[in-house]
Amino acid sequence: MTENTPLIALLKSQIRATGPLTVPEFMTLALQHPEHGYYRKQEAIGASADFVTAPEISQVFGELIGLWLVQRWLDLGQPGRFMLVELGPGKGTLMADALRAASALPGFLPAMQLVLVETNQTLRRLQAEKLAAYAPTWMDSLGELEPDSPVLVIGNEFLDVLPTAQFAVAKGAWFERLVSLNDEGDLAFVLGQPKTPVLPLLPEREDGLFFEVMPSLPGFLKDLSSVLKAHSGAALFVDYAHEKAGTAWSLQAVQNHEKVEPLEAVGEADLTTLVDFEAATTFAQEVGLTAPATVTQRDFLLVLGAWQRFEMLAESSPDDAPALLQSLQRLVGKTQMGNRFKAWTCHYPPTLPAPAGFPTGPGEVSNGG
Ligand code: SAH
Repeated sequence: MTENTPLIALLKSQIRATGPLTVPEFMTLALQHPEHGYYRKQEAIGASADFVTAPEISQVFGELIGLWLVQRWLDLGQPGRFMLVELGPGKGTLMADALRAASALPGFLPAMQLVLVETNQTLRRLQAEKLAAYAPTWMDSLGELEPDSPVLVIGNEFLDVLPTAQFAVAKGAWFERLVSLNDEGDLAFVLGQPKTPVLPLLPEREDGLFFEVMPSLPGFLKDLSSVLKAHSGAALFVDYAHEKAGTAWSLQAVQNHEKVEPLEAVGEADLTTLVDFEAATTFAQEVGLTAPATVTQRDFLLVLGAWQRFEMLAESSPDDAPALLQSLQRLVGKTQMGNRFKAWTCHYPPTLPAPAGFPTGPGEVSNGG
């Protein structure tokens, strides 16, 4: 029998009492359990922690997102008051870099009201320290926001923590991947009758299909549309994304930069799945948002000027040039984050200019004019 963490013991007793858990139920407990959930207690992000994210690799990532936000603010007509919302701001690094870059444009910072959506109290404290100059306020979820002005929303590696249901087709029928107990009494994945109520969101059955659905994604986009449609606004998400939905399951657990078994380090490891941005586009359009085609992180950052920014940094401190080049390579390299991570955006009203860094038509990428 594997070692019981408090959360594993709790999951086992719940399964014995009420039967197998769906993967979304499992992820919700593992990540968000008020006492033992991973995102409620750990300081997970950074070189010495469990995983490293783009803003922790290089300041250029946040700076370019800052320029993207400034461009969107200009597109919105430079409102004298607007809300900037970050979902899952981690250590606050992305926002600190973004706002330093955005401060170059007079008017942006004085008009901004900064709102951070974060469930982890340790990270909230780090964010408060790093972003004190901008007087942020905090919320537990986007649905709590009541906009009094246009809204810009960003989230890096935020959507990938939304719980995901996993399905497969065998002999012409849908099965759902569930967390149950094996003969030794340990947690084990099994296939069972679908329990998560998302059958209408599944594609046509085809033997051998593996499919993932984030049951909360339609509701999340509904919240996002209420926020963006209240006045006007735009959102930007960057995440590790499915190349083609329907080909593989992607749930993975990461602890100390290593992949671990999702059912072994429950509450001690980060759990993520790839994001299905095609599904996000469908749901966004259903609630009246405009969602241009996605781009790779590579194209997004290069079109926004990543290379030029690195050259400037390298010229001002030549000794750091090799390290700077290496971090650029990690962000945009085709075999590194460059192609696996995608940027996705949506906005309201539909008449807003095409967003910087995204394709405006087949094969074209806008640089924001
Ligand atoms: N954006 C940061 C951190 C990514 S990790 C970066 O790029 O470095 C995911 C972040 O989302 C963490 O800050 C985590 O605490 C937060 N988070 C996880 N689940 C959340 C939820 N349901 N609501 C709000 N924040 C959440």
